Amino acid sequence: MTEVITKYLQRNKFKNLDLKAVLFDMDGVIYDSMPAHEKSWQQTMQEWSLKAEPNEFFYQEGRPAIYTTNLLFQRNLKRDASDKELEELYKRKTELFFKYDTGALISGIEGTIEIVKERGLIPILVTGSGQPGLWERLNGDLPGIFTPETMITAFEVEIGKPHPEPYLMGLQKAGNLKPNQALVIENAPLGVESAHKANIFTIAVNTGPLIDQVLIDSGADLLLDSIDDLNSALPKLFEKMETIRI
Ligand code: MG
Repeated sequence: MTEVITKYLQRNKFKNLDLKAVLFDMDGVIYDSMPAHEKSWQQTMQEWSLKAEPNEFFYQEGRPAIYTTNLLFQRNLKRDASDKELEELYKRKTELFFKYDTGALISGIEGTIEIVKERGLIPILVTGSGQPGLWERLNGDLPGIFTPETMITAFEVEIGKPHPEPYLMGLQKAGNLKPNQALVIENAPLGVESAHKANIFTIAVNTGPLIDQVLIDSGADLLLDSIDDLNSALPKLFEKMETIRI
């Protein structure tokens, strides 16, 4: 653990970490919603006769829906989708998502939030999701943890992941923090890339079907297999982050 922290500090030319906030991705980190996203995207594309690869939407996770749709349009039809097509397609995808989504939290995430709060760190949500009623839903499942003031969603960002923009906005919302004052918990390659480019220490938790190497190649500082593993690792990681100076 010492080694990964030292490497992070050297790469970003920081002397130390001074943690104030933890930036949480949502799908695949807080909610076990990725299988429903993959299934609803796949079915929508099939209905539109657009060919998608297996696990395509696990790879594309985090990218705003408009870019994902255009990626598939370009590959299949060599053109972007019209505004009307985007609207219709996303409407169908959303309808199917709510049909397939169980609404379950990722196992162990309540424990993570508890560890973070006990440490006096601010939890911030950084998601590309623009689903209706998101805050109400989050507040129902994790009461009092996130507020509209501590959330970055599809409505705030202009560019979205894998650009660093969403995580840089997350630092701002946490109180104009510097990258060495936060850490990110992500599950998706493009989300890891976004956080890494924002120069924030990034923990990838592989809660999905992709191979670990994809997350390492995207720039994860630390890779773990589950949120339970994360909960075991966090106390020691926080301790090390507090003491290591280069
Ligand atoms: Mg995610």
